Amino acid sequence: MKSKYKIETLLERLDHLHRSYLRDFAYAEGLNLRQLEALLYLSNCNKYSDTPLAMSEYLGLTKGTVSQTIIALEHKTLLRKKKDSDDRRVIHLELTTKGQQIVKNCVDNSDRAKALRSNAKLRTLETGLTELLREIQHVNGHRTFGACHTCKHFRRKALGEHHQCGLTQEPLFEIESLKICREHTEYATL
Ligand code: SF4
Repeated sequence: MKSKYKIETLLERLDHLHRSYLRDFAYAEGLNLRQLEALLYLSNCNKYSDTPLAMSEYLGLTKGTVSQTIIALEHKTLLRKKKDSDDRRVIHLELTTKGQQIVKNCVDNSDRAKALRSNAKLRTLETGLTELLREIQHVNGHRTFGACHTCKHFRRKALGEHHQCGLTQEPLFEIESLKICREHTEYATL
Protein backbone atom coordinates (compact mmCIF):
# COMPACT_ATOMS: atom_id res chain seq x y z
CA MET A 1 0.00 0.00 0.00
CA LYS A 2 2.90 2.28 0.83
CA SER A 3 4.44 1.67 -2.62
CA LYS A 4 1.09 2.23 -4.32
CA TYR A 5 0.69 5.59 -2.62
CA LYS A 6 4.29 6.55 -3.43
CA ILE A 7 3.89 5.64 -7.12
CA GLU A 8 0.65 7.60 -7.39
CA THR A 9 2.36 10.64 -5.86
CA LEU A 10 5.35 10.27 -8.19
CA LEU A 11 3.15 9.99 -11.28
CA GLU A 12 1.15 13.02 -10.22
CA ARG A 13 4.32 15.03 -9.63
CA LEU A 14 5.89 13.96 -12.96
CA ASP A 15 2.68 14.81 -14.80
CA HIS A 16 2.45 18.19 -13.11
CA LEU A 17 6.07 19.09 -13.89
CA HIS A 18 5.80 18.02 -17.53
CA ARG A 19 2.53 19.85 -18.13
CA SER A 20 3.99 22.93 -16.56
CA TYR A 21 6.96 22.69 -18.96
CA LEU A 22 4.63 22.18 -21.94
CA ARG A 23 2.45 25.13 -20.93
CA ASP A 24 5.48 27.45 -20.66
CA PHE A 25 6.91 26.18 -23.94
CA ALA A 26 3.57 26.62 -25.74
CA TYR A 27 3.16 30.13 -24.36
CA ALA A 28 6.66 31.14 -25.55
CA GLU A 29 5.74 29.89 -29.07
CA GLY A 30 2.43 31.78 -29.13
CA LEU A 31 0.40 28.56 -28.75
CA ASN A 32 -1.93 27.15 -26.14
CA LEU A 33 -1.39 23.78 -24.49
CA ARG A 34 -3.95 21.98 -26.69
CA GLN A 35 -2.33 23.26 -29.86
CA LEU A 36 1.09 22.08 -28.71
CA GLU A 37 -0.30 18.68 -27.69
CA ALA A 38 -1.90 18.34 -31.13
CA LEU A 39 1.48 19.00 -32.79
CA LEU A 40 3.20 16.49 -30.50
CA TYR A 41 0.54 13.89 -31.30
CA LEU A 42 0.88 14.37 -35.06
CA SER A 43 4.66 14.01 -34.84
CA ASN A 44 4.24 10.68 -33.11
CA CYS A 45 1.32 9.00 -34.88
CA ASN A 46 1.25 6.87 -38.03
CA LYS A 47 -0.61 7.26 -41.34
CA TYR A 48 -3.75 5.54 -40.00
CA SER A 49 -3.98 7.92 -37.05
CA ASP A 50 -3.28 11.39 -38.46
CA THR A 51 -6.98 12.29 -38.72
CA PRO A 52 -9.09 14.70 -36.66
CA LEU A 53 -11.09 11.77 -35.22
CA ALA A 54 -8.01 9.88 -34.01
CA MET A 55 -6.62 13.09 -32.56
CA SER A 56 -9.82 13.73 -30.61
CA GLU A 57 -9.75 10.16 -29.24
CA TYR A 58 -6.09 10.35 -28.25
CA LEU A 59 -6.26 13.78 -26.63
CA GLY A 60 -9.72 13.23 -25.14
CA LEU A 61 -11.12 16.34 -26.83
CA THR A 62 -14.48 16.99 -28.49
CA LYS A 63 -14.70 17.16 -32.28
CA GLY A 64 -15.45 20.89 -32.02
CA THR A 65 -12.34 21.60 -29.95
CA VAL A 66 -10.17 19.56 -32.31
CA SER A 67 -11.62 21.38 -35.28
CA GLN A 68 -10.84 24.80 -33.71
CA THR A 69 -7.33 23.62 -32.82
CA ILE A 70 -6.69 22.49 -36.41
CA ILE A 71 -7.93 25.80 -37.83
CA ALA A 72 -5.63 27.74 -35.46
CA LEU A 73 -2.61 25.59 -36.32
CA GLU A 74 -3.31 25.86 -40.04
CA HIS A 75 -3.54 29.61 -39.64
CA LYS A 76 -0.12 29.64 -37.97
CA THR A 77 1.20 27.47 -40.86
CA LEU A 78 2.20 24.67 -38.47
CA LEU A 79 0.10 21.99 -40.13
CA ARG A 80 -1.70 21.32 -43.40
CA LYS A 81 -4.65 19.15 -44.43
CA LYS A 82 -4.30 16.48 -47.09
CA LYS A 83 -7.11 14.46 -48.70
CA ASP A 84 -6.76 10.69 -48.61
CA SER A 85 -5.79 9.37 -52.06
CA ASP A 86 -8.31 6.46 -51.87
CA ASP A 87 -11.17 8.04 -49.94
CA ARG A 88 -11.49 11.77 -50.65
CA ARG A 89 -13.80 12.20 -47.62
CA VAL A 90 -10.95 11.35 -45.26
CA ILE A 91 -8.63 14.18 -44.25
CA HIS A 92 -5.08 13.60 -43.06
CA LEU A 93 -3.13 16.17 -41.08
CA GLU A 94 0.59 16.71 -41.52
CA LEU A 95 3.09 18.99 -39.85
CA THR A 96 4.81 21.64 -41.91
CA THR A 97 8.58 22.10 -41.54
CA LYS A 98 7.83 24.93 -39.09
CA GLY A 99 5.56 22.60 -37.07
CA GLN A 100 8.20 19.87 -37.04
CA GLN A 101 10.82 22.32 -35.77
CA ILE A 102 8.61 23.39 -32.86
CA VAL A 103 8.07 19.76 -31.88
CA LYS A 104 11.81 19.04 -32.10
CA ASN A 105 12.66 22.00 -29.87
CA CYS A 106 9.96 21.06 -27.41
CA VAL A 107 10.99 17.41 -27.14
CA ASP A 108 14.76 18.00 -27.10
CA ASN A 109 14.61 20.63 -24.40
CA SER A 110 12.21 19.01 -21.97
CA ASP A 111 13.68 18.12 -18.57
CA ARG A 112 11.95 14.78 -18.82
CA ALA A 113 13.69 13.92 -22.11
CA LYS A 114 17.06 15.01 -20.70
CA ALA A 115 16.58 12.91 -17.57
CA LEU A 116 15.53 9.88 -19.61
CA ARG A 117 18.62 10.14 -21.80
CA SER A 118 20.75 9.55 -18.72
CA ASN A 119 18.56 6.86 -17.17
CA ALA A 120 20.19 3.43 -17.35
CA LYS A 121 16.98 1.67 -16.30
CA LEU A 122 14.90 2.82 -19.28
CA ARG A 123 13.80 -0.69 -20.27
CA THR A 124 12.42 -1.57 -16.83
CA LEU A 125 10.71 1.78 -16.57
CA GLU A 126 9.15 1.38 -20.04
CA THR A 127 7.79 -2.09 -19.24
CA GLY A 128 6.28 -1.04 -15.90
CA LEU A 129 4.69 2.15 -17.21
CA THR A 130 3.33 0.40 -20.32
CA GLU A 131 1.66 -2.25 -18.14
CA LEU A 132 0.14 0.42 -15.91
CA LEU A 133 -1.13 2.40 -18.89
CA ARG A 134 -2.63 -0.69 -20.57
CA GLU A 135 -4.47 -1.63 -17.40
CA ILE A 136 -6.00 1.84 -17.07
CA GLN A 137 -6.93 1.90 -20.77
CA HIS A 138 -8.46 -1.56 -20.50
CA VAL A 139 -10.60 -0.62 -17.48
CA ASN A 140 -11.83 2.52 -19.24
CA GLY A 141 -12.28 0.90 -22.65
CA HIS A 142 -9.85 3.31 -24.31
CA ARG A 143 -7.87 2.50 -27.43
CA THR A 144 -4.25 1.57 -26.64
CA PHE A 145 -2.57 3.85 -29.22
CA GLY A 146 0.54 1.68 -28.79
CA ALA A 147 3.70 1.63 -30.89
CA CYS A 148 3.15 -0.26 -34.15
CA HIS A 149 5.94 -2.83 -33.59
CA THR A 150 4.17 -4.05 -30.43
CA CYS A 151 0.82 -4.69 -32.21
CA LYS A 152 -0.50 -8.20 -32.79
CA HIS A 153 -1.02 -7.35 -36.50
CA PHE A 154 2.61 -6.31 -36.98
CA ARG A 155 4.53 -8.62 -39.34
CA ARG A 156 8.25 -8.07 -39.04
CA LYS A 157 10.08 -8.09 -42.41
CA ALA A 158 7.11 -9.90 -44.00
CA LEU A 159 7.79 -8.10 -47.29
CA GLY A 160 11.51 -8.71 -47.43
CA GLU A 161 13.03 -5.35 -46.73
CA HIS A 162 9.83 -3.93 -45.22
CA HIS A 163 7.49 -4.85 -42.41
CA GLN A 164 3.76 -5.32 -43.05
CA CYS A 165 0.51 -4.40 -41.32
CA GLY A 166 -1.55 -7.58 -41.05
CA LEU A 167 -4.75 -5.53 -40.82
CA THR A 168 -4.37 -3.46 -43.99
CA GLN A 169 -1.75 -5.66 -45.71
CA GLU A 170 0.22 -2.50 -46.50
CA PRO A 171 4.01 -2.26 -46.20
CA LEU A 172 5.47 -0.45 -43.20
CA PHE A 173 8.82 1.30 -43.19
CA GLU A 174 11.09 0.94 -40.16
CA ILE A 175 10.26 4.49 -39.00
CA GLU A 176 6.53 3.68 -39.17
CA SER A 177 6.99 0.67 -36.90
CA LEU A 178 7.94 3.06 -34.08
CA LYS A 179 4.90 5.33 -34.45
CA ILE A 180 1.69 5.05 -32.44
CA CYS A 181 -1.47 3.78 -34.13
CA ARG A 182 -5.22 4.12 -33.58
CA GLU A 183 -5.73 0.51 -34.69
CA HIS A 184 -3.04 -0.88 -32.39
CA THR A 185 -4.14 -4.19 -30.83
CA GLU A 186 -2.54 -5.86 -27.84
CA TYR A 187 -1.64 -9.54 -27.84
CA ALA A 188 -4.23 -11.41 -25.82
CA THR A 189 -2.99 -12.25 -22.32
CA LEU A 190 -3.77 -15.64 -20.83
S1 SF4 B 1 0.40 -3.39 -37.39
FE1 SF4 B 1 -1.08 -2.66 -35.89
S2 SF4 B 1 -0.20 -0.79 -35.09
FE2 SF4 B 1 0.87 -1.25 -37.00
S3 SF4 B 1 -0.26 -0.15 -38.59
FE3 SF4 B 1 -1.15 -2.21 -38.48
S4 SF4 B 1 -2.86 -2.01 -37.04
FE4 SF4 B 1 -1.56 -0.22 -36.76
